[in-house]
Order: sequence, then structure tokens, then C-alpha cells
Amino acid sequence: MKTENISRRQAIRKMTTVAAAAAVCSQVPSLASVLAAEPESADAGSQPQDDPRVSTLKMEDFPLVYEGPDVVFHKLNDHLWIGNGHLMYNESIYLVEGQKSALLIDTGTRIADLDKIVARFTDKPIDVALTHTHGDHAGSVGCFDHFWMTQAEGIRVPRGYNGKVSYMENGKKFDLGGRTLEVFYAPGHTTDSVLFIDEANHIGISGDAFGSTNLLMNLDVSTFLASARATLKMMYEKQIYYMLPGHFDGTNAETTKRVFDLMNIAQGVLDGKLEGKPAQGNLNRIYTYQGVRFNYSDKRVR
Ligand SMILES: [Zn+2]
Repeated sequence: MKTENISRRQAIRKMTTVAAAAAVCSQVPSLASVLAAEPESADAGSQPQDDPRVSTLKMEDFPLVYEGPDVVFHKLNDHLWIGNGHLMYNESIYLVEGQKSALLIDTGTRIADLDKIVARFTDKPIDVALTHTHGDHAGSVGCFDHFWMTQAEGIRVPRGYNGKVSYMENGKKFDLGGRTLEVFYAPGHTTDSVLFIDEANHIGISGDAFGSTNLLMNLDVSTFLASARATLKMMYEKQIYYMLPGHFDGTNAETTKRVFDLMNIAQGVLDGKLEGKPAQGNLNRIYTYQGVRFNYSDKRVR
């Protein structure tokens, strides 16, 4: 990064307890091999590519399992499905299945009969949890009589929802039977943004926390910076190679490189060394690096 204000090596050195960080970085397997792997068997380096962190997967590479007016579902592997809607920008929802139960992460913008659609893919009971409560992620939560969300400043239960709501603490584990998803708080896009981390499978589901290449950074830059730093450390420690984002098109999974770059941009903006170009709207600055947009407000550079 020509405007990078600290080197990757310096950043890694700054993070305690990540001695293996550099090694992990150079051994990242491709997203295709991570998705294809059985738990605990992701074989680093088994499918060498020039830069495996840059995925060139297309949704057509995966079996199409449902196509309706509101959503299209593909099967990413035997226990993981993705639905993409089209009312916002390619909004993604994920169904993760364990041996006992399944978890639906996010509910899209407006998908009629989402409960019936996802019940086609698994015979396990399905619980629902949200990466955050924006309308393109929480929109169809009304199809379900219970869901999990995060309690955070300014966050309310989606309007009109009549079912039961449970709140997720940081570190909460969803044990699906042979598969566990751990909640990791990552505010920045919103106060309630969380990641769901599947350590055994080296993968996470990240909603809009890192933006799917277009991060809308609604909070203070320092809040996002702290989240990015903690997330990067967690990804190195748990060897989370990819996080599937809230608007996934096959190519824009979040990686350690992506989180590192965003962390560095946030640090540069805070230090006054980087400044985004003027933009319209509340987020009136955009800093662009390698096709990734960091949208922020100059009032929240603090
Ligand atoms: Zn959002």
C-alpha cells in the first residue's frame, strides 16, 4: 500500500500472542479448498494458487438448489448454503447445519416464506441469528417465531416483529452438534455488528462488519480500528482463513489481508496521514485501496 503508514511486519509485531502470524499468512489455502474440506482437515497448500486469498469463485461454481422470485440459494458444501437476494445489493444469508440443529444467519430484505425455503435444505430444527439489524439482513425475520440479535446502543428489535427475541453476548457459542459458531463482536459498520466464527472449519460469516469490499463505517473510526485489530488477532490465532460477507459474490470473502488493509486505512485516517475523497451523504469521505472502499464521515474521525 503506497500510503500504508505501518508495515505488515510492524502490525504483526504489535499484536501479542500471534507468533505464527506470518506463517499462517503464507499458508492460507484457497477458499474452494476450505469450503470443500471436512472439519479439521483443511489442508494448507493442497491447491496452490498465485494468491489464494483472492478468490475467483463464481456462484455458478456451486450447485443451484433453489431459485425463487426473492432469493437464489446455492449449496457451498454439504452443510452450508448461501441465499442471495436482489432487493438491495446481492444481500447474503447463510444456513449452517450441524448434526443436531441448523443456524440461519441473516434473513435478507424481503423473502416470502423464507422459513419454508430453508426447511428444504435440512431436516434439523433451524434457529435464526443476525449479524446486525439492518433491513437487508433482518428483513424477513418475521418468518420465524424466535431469533437472536445483539443488544447495543441505538439498536431495536425490527419493527413489527412479534416473536421471541434472545440476545447474544460476545463469545456466545451456538453448538449445532459437531459444529460450533462463536459470536465475535465487531462494531464499526453498526453498534451491533457481529461475526460468527467456525474455528474447526477455518471460516467465519461476517455480515457487513468489513463491508464486502464496500465498508460503510457508520461509527467512530477508532471504534472500527479496535474491532479490526481484535478481529485480525482472532483470525491469526484461530486460523480463520475466510469470512463470508453480507453481500457475497464469490470473489469478495474477507481475509486477513482485507482486515489488515482496512485496519491500516483506519489508523491512517485517524493519524491524519490518509484522507478520503469527498462524497455525498452522511459518509462524506471515501478512501479507496485496491478496489476496496472505506466510506466514513469526517465528523467521526476520532
Ligand atoms: Zn448493514
